[in-house]
Amino acid sequence: MSEVRCLNCLKRFPVLPKAETAICPKCKTKYRISWPTPNQAKVRGLA
Ligand SMILES: [Zn+2]
Repeated sequence: MSEVRCLNCLKRFPVLPKAETAICPKCKTKYRISWPTPNQAKVRGLA
């Protein structure tokens, strides 16, 4: 499973495959997610 790092609190957390948004479990910040490759998630910015 792909992980991203929260830009707010720096916690790494898993992202569901092909998810378009994800919420940091620690600080609850919501992010838009992009997929440069099918198994590599990347934070695009705040949702
Ligand atoms: Zn966070």
